Amino acid sequence: MIAENIKHIINSIPSDVQLVAVSKTKPNADIIEAYHVGQRLFGENKVQELVAKYESLPKDIQWHFIGHLQSNKVKYIAPFVSLIHSVDSLKLLQIINKEAEKCGRTIPCLLQVHIAKEETKFGLDQTELNQLIEESGNLKNVCICGFMGMATNTDDMNIVRNEFRELKRLFDTAKSKYFNQSSSFNTLSMGMSGDYKIAIEEGSTMIRLGSTIFGERIYH
Ligand SMILES: *Cc1c(COP(=O)(O)O)cnc(C)c1O
Repeated sequence: MIAENIKHIINSIPSDVQLVAVSKTKPNADIIEAYHVGQRLFGENKVQELVAKYESLPKDIQWHFIGHLQSNKVKYIAPFVSLIHSVDSLKLLQIINKEAEKCGRTIPCLLQVHIAKEETKFGLDQTELNQLIEESGNLKNVCICGFMGMATNTDDMNIVRNEFRELKRLFDTAKSKYFNQSSSFNTLSMGMSGDYKIAIEEGSTMIRLGSTIFGERIYH
């Protein structure tokens, strides 16, 4: 099933949109099944779970961190993480920079933007976004590669579409204002199982799919 799901999704999305398989709560066997049909990008939202999976699974997997990241846990993922989607403060970015420097690497990061109506979703508003970008210029061991956002959890697809459109507008604005010279500012991570088709129509370059690939998650 997992293999079929991935093949179906890959065939139905544009070739320049990247698929992150969100494997949180799922066992290694499920990840290996996806791996065997060529999937290499996987997303996790808990540091401990991510580290355990990194240690026991093939080393050519690119691990993305997509959850809320606590400063004191950055050190555990800094040696290997491929992309952090959820940077929502300068303080966190500074700590990622420091831990990346210790590892002798540059860690690609996305800034998480608050676009949803819900209070509970993390992320920066437009003012905070600009401020963070302007204050981050001296950080040499992180690369701001784009933005990530989550739309409101609603059946009203007009709301969802407008939120994605707003995120794309913020992305384009930041690109021309701050990242004109930087070809690495190229990633717009938006779209989950319930809304990825709309996200792609609105300019997503990276979708994060969990349940569509692996089935519903069971939390214990
Ligand atoms: C869990 C999660 C996803 C995947 O959700 P699905 O609805 O199962 O596709 C995507 N992004 C983030 C940030 C998540 O936490």
